[in-house]
Amino acid sequence: MNIPAVEDIAVVGAGPYGLSIAAHLAEKGRRLRVFGTPMETWRKNMPAGMHLKSEGFASTLYDPRSQFRLSRYCKENGIAYADRGLPVALENFSEYGQEFARRYVPMLEERAVKAIRRNGSGFKLTLEDDQIVTVQQVICAAGIARYAHLPPPFNELPGSIVSHCSAYHDLSGFAGKTVAVVGGGASAADYAALLSEAGATTHLLTRRDRLAFHNPPHRRGLRERLRYPFTTIGPGWDSVFYTQLPTVFHAMPSQRRIAITGRHLGPAPCWFVRDTVEKNVSVHTSTKITGVSVQDGKAVLTLDGANANSVTVDHIIAATGYKIDLARLGILDDTLRLDIRTDAAGSPILSPRFESSVRGLYFVGATAANSFGPVLRFACGAEFAARRLARHFQ
Ligand SMILES: Cc1cc2nc3c(=O)[nH]c(=O)nc-3n(C[C@H](O)[C@H](O)[C@H](O)COP(=O)(O)OP(=O)(O)OC[C@H]3O[C@@H](n4cnc5c(N)ncnc54)[C@H](O)[C@@H]3O)c2cc1C
Repeated sequence: MNIPAVEDIAVVGAGPYGLSIAAHLAEKGRRLRVFGTPMETWRKNMPAGMHLKSEGFASTLYDPRSQFRLSRYCKENGIAYADRGLPVALENFSEYGQEFARRYVPMLEERAVKAIRRNGSGFKLTLEDDQIVTVQQVICAAGIARYAHLPPPFNELPGSIVSHCSAYHDLSGFAGKTVAVVGGGASAADYAALLSEAGATTHLLTRRDRLAFHNPPHRRGLRERLRYPFTTIGPGWDSVFYTQLPTVFHAMPSQRRIAITGRHLGPAPCWFVRDTVEKNVSVHTSTKITGVSVQDGKAVLTLDGANANSVTVDHIIAATGYKIDLARLGILDDTLRLDIRTDAAGSPILSPRFESSVRGLYFVGATAANSFGPVLRFACGAEFAARRLARHFQ
């Protein structure tokens, strides 16, 4: 009988976290299976033409010797690059991630995992083609796309009327249409700006009293640098703490961690979309949507607050964020999922080594942010995760 080999570890996901972790574990000589479409979220769930919010030096993947950072890729390919002040194009970052996969994660299998269940002391993975893989440990690096959050009343409307922004990469299909983007953060502003550039008449509706655009880069004097030291997730001493000491953050009480992770770096659109938004988009601030009805195939949004009137559009794009919910990952078998202890916000409770209450099952990326802090919501958090897991698995 042909008994399948039991590999050590499966990495599920091929974004910045999965790829950086796989590169580190491969160097340690661990027997690995790595699954996922490289940089899929960046290729399918973010709008074409977008620029990254993170600076160049913080928008990178991590190989064990830090030899192939985004700066090196740009140099090799004649792409303009600066550590700070020059926004990174989404297309360049996603091409870079794919090249990183080719160089450092050659074992990557571009197949999705359909189900994960227990198998004795390890796990059994069912792949999209029904192949079964057995492993001792699973590192779940599946990203945020499955966590797209549609709050009421949008979750009660048909998909022809409303969709979450993560459903779109190519916005050209909206040319000539009228679209309402709901939200006040970076994604809302990015989508609104790019929709207007794609030829859509665009409204942006937010409960906030203004869009809090980031300041454009400027020369920072000594005083400002001392008061707000720069980090991979932005300036400020609190960000220094979150980026440098995620293990200390992990030791804080759970409620405090959840509160900090939820509020640190609130909604703030990027400075470089400001002109387009201000010139081309009808921005409705201090606006509450009190109801949405469908009339002749169009959405009529009833508004309250400063702009009490209504707006009629062909489609609503909800830039309403992401909510961690393991059930929505859609790959954890129910028995396994119910054994994973979660915190008050629904995120898995993780050990200092990213292990959940199910022995051998690890979570990284945004799913680990309530454990290790805001840095885990960004690509730059992959450095900490990859190094820590590489030490753990050596
Ligand atoms: C619009 C937008 C803009 C952003 N801009 C920035 C930014 O400028 N800088 C920044 O640092 N962060 C940014 N982020 C946050 C960003 O999502 C995270 O930094 C980053 O994606 C985290 O990497 P990851 O590897 O955890 O997840 P992802 O990049 O989401 O990768 C997840 C991977 O898992 C794979 N996968 C999922 N399910 C399965 C499965 N069942 N089987 C196999 N594979 C699977 C996918 O194919 C994908 O390869 C942005 C997010 C959004 C939505």
